[in-house]
Amino acid sequence: MVTGASERPAGERGLTAGELAVTRQLLIHGPATRGDLGDRLNISYASMSRLARALILGGMASEDLEPAAAIGRPRQILTAVPSARHVVGVKLTGDTAYGVVCDMFGEVRATARAALPRPGEGGAVPVAPTVKVIAQLTNRLAPKVPSVDGIGVAVGGVVADRSIVREGTFLGWRDVDLAGPLRDRTGLPVIVTNDVTALAREQLWFGAGRTHSTFGIITVGAGLGVGVVREGIALEELIDNGHLLAHAPVDSSGPRCSLGHQGCVAAYLNREDLERHASAAANCPVTFDDLVRARAAGDQDATRRLDGAARALGHVVASFAGALQTTCIVLGGEDVAAFTDSPALQEAIDDRLRPGPLETQRCTLDLLTTPLTFTDWARGGAVAGIQHVLGA
Ligand SMILES: [Zn+2]
Repeated sequence: MVTGASERPAGERGLTAGELAVTRQLLIHGPATRGDLGDRLNISYASMSRLARALILGGMASEDLEPAAAIGRPRQILTAVPSARHVVGVKLTGDTAYGVVCDMFGEVRATARAALPRPGEGGAVPVAPTVKVIAQLTNRLAPKVPSVDGIGVAVGGVVADRSIVREGTFLGWRDVDLAGPLRDRTGLPVIVTNDVTALAREQLWFGAGRTHSTFGIITVGAGLGVGVVREGIALEELIDNGHLLAHAPVDSSGPRCSLGHQGCVAAYLNREDLERHASAAANCPVTFDDLVRARAAGDQDATRRLDGAARALGHVVASFAGALQTTCIVLGGEDVAAFTDSPALQEAIDDRLRPGPLETQRCTLDLLTTPLTFTDWARGGAVAGIQHVLGA
């Protein structure tokens, strides 16, 4: 007998649109009654009861009596079951695969890492051995959880169709299908995403998305990365990977970026550009960490350079928020603390918000900062994987 997808328990297949909507509510906003969920999702009580039964039967959710009912009948509270799904998340840098395994709430249950094969002639990291490394990483993480239901891989660069790495910035990849071979090797559902998009998906469910349906993400590190969540949907493919914002002019008399723009955002903010300018001025190699240390010791040149970077970041925040029409921007990345420590960041934003003499200020901006280690990036991959496995 052939069993239709909707006749099988919700735990053994992708979720229906209704089941996904309820699960998503429970994951993002926490436990709720059937009545509350029905109201929020505009679902009739009968349909909501059917969805709740399917999710409970499939092990995706549990239902318990409210612990201390005040007056009247105690209410049934529906809660998502964290252990219903486990997904491996992997962040690929140019030389290392960082792995985590997460439950359905995105909680990291275990971590592992492995070296990637060295780049071959032409500078590209070989693909088949990379697939093998990710599969081995998955095998190492699998015993830490009851079962692994999928894999989410986050890479810097441009990714198409949740699968093809069109441009793998640090891997030297062009048009590499990563999801296909990894799926074949592991037998698991696989999603490949840009790393900032993975972070956008993570923030959508477990961060800024809890309070804002539209928000932007800016990451600063080796380069500027951007992510967009619009009306509750994370944009999977960006038109330019943030290039237009990264090269917006800040000061026409400022330093030059590697493309030759005078005083663009990248010229102030990119780690490489900052280091190049500081090294040229000092006549010896100066690293980003040197600059941060020098500022802490009171060095004026280092303070000026990091303030300049923070001001450029403030302008990007303001422009991005204005273009997206959101009051919420999330800042992340390895270098972000060095810029949020500077008062110039908030000064630049405040100056952009300042109204004219006959105007009133129309909004303020919520600036959320998320620390980002490679494990956090891998967790972004895992959350993208969870969403993919659930059918989001
Ligand atoms: Zn530029």
